[in-house]
Amino acid sequence: MPLRFYNTLTQEVEPFAPLTDNTVRMYTCGPTVYDFAHIGNFRSFVFVDLLRRWLRASGHQLDHVMNITDVDDKIIQNAVALNQSVEEYTAKYTEAFREDCEVLRLETPERLVKATEHIPDMVRAIEKLAETGHTYDSEGSIYFRISTFPGYGKLSHADFSGIRSGARVDVDKYDKDNARDFALWKAPKEGEPFWPAAIGPGRPGWHIECSVMAIKYLGETLDIHAGGVDLVFPHHENEIAQSEALTGKQFARVWLHSEFLMVEGQKMSKSLGNFYTLRNVLERGYAPEAIRYLLASVPYRKQLNFTFDGIKSAATAIDRLRNFKLRLETEKFPEGANEKMTVRIETAVREFVEGMDDDLNTAAALAAIFEYVRDANTAMNSGEFGAANVAGAVDLLNRFDAVFDVIAPTRQSGEMSDSEVDSMIAERAKAKAAKNFALADQIRQQLLDQGIILEDTKAGVRWKRKT
Ligand SMILES: [Zn+2]
Repeated sequence: MPLRFYNTLTQEVEPFAPLTDNTVRMYTCGPTVYDFAHIGNFRSFVFVDLLRRWLRASGHQLDHVMNITDVDDKIIQNAVALNQSVEEYTAKYTEAFREDCEVLRLETPERLVKATEHIPDMVRAIEKLAETGHTYDSEGSIYFRISTFPGYGKLSHADFSGIRSGARVDVDKYDKDNARDFALWKAPKEGEPFWPAAIGPGRPGWHIECSVMAIKYLGETLDIHAGGVDLVFPHHENEIAQSEALTGKQFARVWLHSEFLMVEGQKMSKSLGNFYTLRNVLERGYAPEAIRYLLASVPYRKQLNFTFDGIKSAATAIDRLRNFKLRLETEKFPEGANEKMTVRIETAVREFVEGMDDDLNTAAALAAIFEYVRDANTAMNSGEFGAANVAGAVDLLNRFDAVFDVIAPTRQSGEMSDSEVDSMIAERAKAKAAKNFALADQIRQQLLDQGIILEDTKAGVRWKRKT
């Protein structure tokens, strides 16, 4: 079976291929930088990262655009309250977002673009929509008239035929029951910052920003548009209306949406006291790769229940993989290949690939890995794993980690590097050879204090970091 995705637009699982050549032109909605991003946001960003990596593992090139929304109502409110410019206010959270992504090992899209750097493009798009009769003005703001776009509702599969024509809304997010004409350009209120423009002073609405930047960099028809399920309506519905009204072409062929994240079985909210930014979770001492693993482990179209026990289980799972990798690297196995394990690795690779190809079914892919690791460990214990079986096992772990990226431990600042550890181990070996056992023990203790555990084996000393 080929790579396939569930397309929100058609409500079907479809085989995937880019429209032209081998490059996937993909747009995903990025953060609004008015605060630190929370773990619900990162569920969606981890999903996009898995999507990127699996598309590449499947032989595709990527041209991926993600926006940074650095102007919106909340940003303006907060910046005005702090007497800062929009730029000053958002710089801090934009930087924080980049740092958080790095900590979670999220790849940087080919283009990370800021809304405020594309205002003239947005103004031109609004002018064109006005010329073609899709807009109207009211009190200095410009609205998109949704009755001029007959396909409105095709993504959220809602029937909007009964909506009151001319009813409009100024906020960017609203209920499905309340479909309204939405703002493309917002007139500034007293004391608010604005951009001067031929269409009048103001600022862009959230929706137009994504349409304009997507089309500018990726062309009129994208292969994939993705985001969290909360964006289906109104944001993505409005993106389709504006974009297709502008170009007369299908805006995106495939729409992918990741489900909500719950915390300890409840909706995450500040009032329930279960609202966590990534930073809040890291401050409790959890390893970033364990958080990444947890967020990746549940297939993206299923709700994910984020629990602290879940992070601990994720850390244990990662440990199993690290220990298995260490065995592969350090143990002496009987020469040649064990035939059963040769067959077994083929099954494992096939099940892993089939799992990921099946709409990124990460649960199935992980099951393939862990069942193999269990069988290989058993075979190693009974001498039925040959030296020639090592390469296949290493290849499987590499395929897995090219997507999940959790095996390498995150180094804390001030932590010893691998080469520093190796040179201390060499010192200890010299001390032992010189029968200076007190010094050898002292070095072992020093390493232990740094979280490095030594094991003396027949094949020599091996070491690992405490997790
Ligand atoms: Zn967007």
